[in-house]
Amino acid sequence: MNSSSLSSLCCRRSALRQSVAHYRRFASASTASPKSAPPSPKNRWVGIAIITIAAGSTGAYLRSQSPASDTLNPETFTKYSLVSREPVSSTSSLFTLRPRYHSDRNYDVYEDAWRIGVWSVMFKQPQLQIGRDYTPLPVTAATPLTVDEENEGYLRFFIRKDPFGEVSRYLHSLSIGADIEMRGPQIECAIPKETQEVLFIAGGTGIAPALQAGYSLLNRTTEENRPRIHIFWANRLKEDCIGGQSDTPVLETVRRSWFSGWFGSSKNTSSNDQAALHSLEDKSTSMIVRELDGLKSQYPGQVTVDYYLDEENRFIGKKEISDYIASTPRPLDNVPGRKLILVSGPEGFISYMVGPKVWADGKELQGPLRGIIKELDLKGWAVWKL
Ligand SMILES: Cc1cc2nc3c(=O)[nH]c(=O)nc-3n(C[C@H](O)[C@H](O)[C@H](O)COP(=O)(O)OP(=O)(O)OC[C@H]3O[C@@H](n4cnc5c(N)ncnc54)[C@H](O)[C@@H]3O)c2cc1C
Repeated sequence: MNSSSLSSLCCRRSALRQSVAHYRRFASASTASPKSAPPSPKNRWVGIAIITIAAGSTGAYLRSQSPASDTLNPETFTKYSLVSREPVSSTSSLFTLRPRYHSDRNYDVYEDAWRIGVWSVMFKQPQLQIGRDYTPLPVTAATPLTVDEENEGYLRFFIRKDPFGEVSRYLHSLSIGADIEMRGPQIECAIPKETQEVLFIAGGTGIAPALQAGYSLLNRTTEENRPRIHIFWANRLKEDCIGGQSDTPVLETVRRSWFSGWFGSSKNTSSNDQAALHSLEDKSTSMIVRELDGLKSQYPGQVTVDYYLDEENRFIGKKEISDYIASTPRPLDNVPGRKLILVSGPEGFISYMVGPKVWADGKELQGPLRGIIKELDLKGWAVWKL
């Protein structure tokens, strides 16, 4: 797919994590020109007037002090309560949040976003007045949410605690029942209705958008339409993906560890984290692996996952990606939107795979395709950096 067709298919809110107003834009993997997004009648938040004052540096203040709303919306912050925080590994947890005040409309807001593709919300750190984006997990067969909780607008998040990170540390320090303010949805990538094949390359918590992409894509399954998603999920430590079994035999490769610097070190694990880790050792399958397995059993033959572990010197490389590309049906080649490679994870991970995103005029853009994927014969696959 060429850059202009990609730009008309995928859209992403600029990740102005500290921006004072929400806006949407289109961009492509090979151009730095943002375009306006056409309003869609289905999505109430799409047509909202767009006024952006960008603040591009980490730590800039959120100046939006609009009154809180009962329903999640991109303009004002909505209060949620922390229902639970369960460790997934020594460095990450599953957060369950529910709207602080009742609203009949939250469910519809989420549904609109799920239909489009990959989306996020921004959490506010009230003392520092800064915000960070996080990715709601889809509700699947493996999800421990009741129908009532779902209807009430509960949301779940898989969040890594960065030992030096302002907002992730704040979130991990909150007591159960504490308020968390968020705004959104922010569409990160619309998955075109033509899409039949998604190759999702995820690093660490980048698996959350992969689950979203899978959920959104596979929900479109009919007798005639059976889209597929293959996920490469790279983790630094085994405990991050306990119980995960790769669907493709994985070649043992030893390369420079591109994860070590970017996922941080686990050596400074606190005693609380150690306790959480010990309780995890009792569980044979991590919660995220269960979610992936749930998708697989719900859509047999349409979901495959390969796990890569830094600590076992197994990394996602050119060979793994090109082998997968070569294995997909050729008739889909060169049909715009049919085949999509999505890459999500820490900045260094994205740069290594597809080159960095770039900032221009206070907006974050896709930037040119670089990294190891640029060196492959993509055979019509479009690429999107999340
Ligand atoms: C669309 C989107 C969705 C996301 N979804 C998720 C999700 O579902 N789960 C999840 O865990 N994360 C997710 N993230 C990442 C998340 O938004 C945060 O970036 C992450 O939690 C770290 O934020 P923080 O405030 O804790 O760390 P920050 O305070 O932003 O710090 C991050 C790192 O940078 C270092 N650093 C900060 N400032 C400097 C500096 N001046 N010089 C050198 N180093 C510096 C810090 O030491 C730290 O290691 C998502 C990001 C995006 C853009």
